[in-house]
Amino acid sequence: MKVVLTPRGVRRVLARHPWVWQSDVLELPEEPGIYPVAGRRGVLGWAMVNPRSLISVRVFHFGDADDPLAALWRNLDSALDFRRVAYRSNEQAGLRLTFAEADLLPGLVIDSYARHLVVQAHAAAWEPLLGELGERLQAALAANSILARHDSPLREKEGLERYVRPLAGATPAAALVGEGRVRYRVELGAGQKTGAFLDQRDNRLFLGEFLAARGQRGGRGLDVFSYQGLFALQMSPHLDSVELVDSSAAALAAARENAALNRAENLTFTEANAFDLLRQKERAGEQYDVVVLDPPAFAARKSDRQRALAAYKEVNLRALKLLRPGGLLATASCSHHVHEAEFYEMLAGAAADAHRLVRLRARRGQAWDHPMLLTVPETHYLKFALLEVLS
Ligand code: SAH
Repeated sequence: MKVVLTPRGVRRVLARHPWVWQSDVLELPEEPGIYPVAGRRGVLGWAMVNPRSLISVRVFHFGDADDPLAALWRNLDSALDFRRVAYRSNEQAGLRLTFAEADLLPGLVIDSYARHLVVQAHAAAWEPLLGELGERLQAALAANSILARHDSPLREKEGLERYVRPLAGATPAAALVGEGRVRYRVELGAGQKTGAFLDQRDNRLFLGEFLAARGQRGGRGLDVFSYQGLFALQMSPHLDSVELVDSSAAALAAARENAALNRAENLTFTEANAFDLLRQKERAGEQYDVVVLDPPAFAARKSDRQRALAAYKEVNLRALKLLRPGGLLATASCSHHVHEAEFYEMLAGAAADAHRLVRLRARRGQAWDHPMLLTVPETHYLKFALLEVLS
């Protein structure tokens, strides 16, 4: 059995995009699994296939293969090899071990929190392979524990069951992760994403290093969309105070615990809608020295792009107005539908409308353990800019 693609599907795979939509498929096996993908001229690659999913075909190997499963496991080995030094050298690290399609492992995200692994395998063909996946991970990494956290509502769209179950060892309720000098608690089996946002790790460390390098001593910080407070904790030693803002009480409770863990006594916590709060602060004429904006993806669908750009512009405009001359704005977007060029255009527009002269101090993206495939724009999703308000 195989998958047969339409000419448009063929062009997509030849252009090295691993996803083929149902509408670009002529013939599809009835059961999820691993199948060859073909056009009229023969096999183009091997894919994880799910007839119940809109993204029916997810290629993990381009070209033919005698033993496609061996090719899949080789992709896993090379993903782990790439992180091996970081994994071995730092017992406390928060590290992404596999980043799905960018590591040619469809839908497979594995994050390591102090060597407790959280697995999310959101492609049906992984289901019968999970036992072997667990064994291979154990053999390669000798992890403390491995948990399949398959509780995302997205799984239902794929016709997949929702459950959380151990693949190896006993997973504790939480792990303590080290990020530079900061320690933080990650709930294993709860919390947003796999428990933390590792994609921003290097940007958080960078912001701390930037403040140290510029000799920042004192001033007011504001960490908007703070979640567990990880940006705030990097800023805390360099500022008099940092105010965290999040709309989730659970997020702020986690941030409070992390503040205590790091003996950071200059943090305050506000549960609020960021849009309302920024407006209020602007009206009250408040001023800050450093503002962080790390909102959730405002554009979940392509059709949301314009509305999302307007929302990004609004929060950035208000944040710029809250900054004193010399102040810094660390601002991000994780919507892959908002491209990098549009993000920077939006920022320039916000600066112009706020009548602020702004210097771009750093232009960054996701952490190094979240690689990107050039031909797959979905894999380069995180934009991060450090802006300095000159006047
Ligand atoms: N900066 C964090 C990650 C932020 S994730 C880190 O580095 O780990 C985005 C956060 O925004 C989530 O915690 C979510 O609860 C919060 N959020 C979503 N919509 C919000 C809104 N309108 N106002 C305030 N917080 C919001």
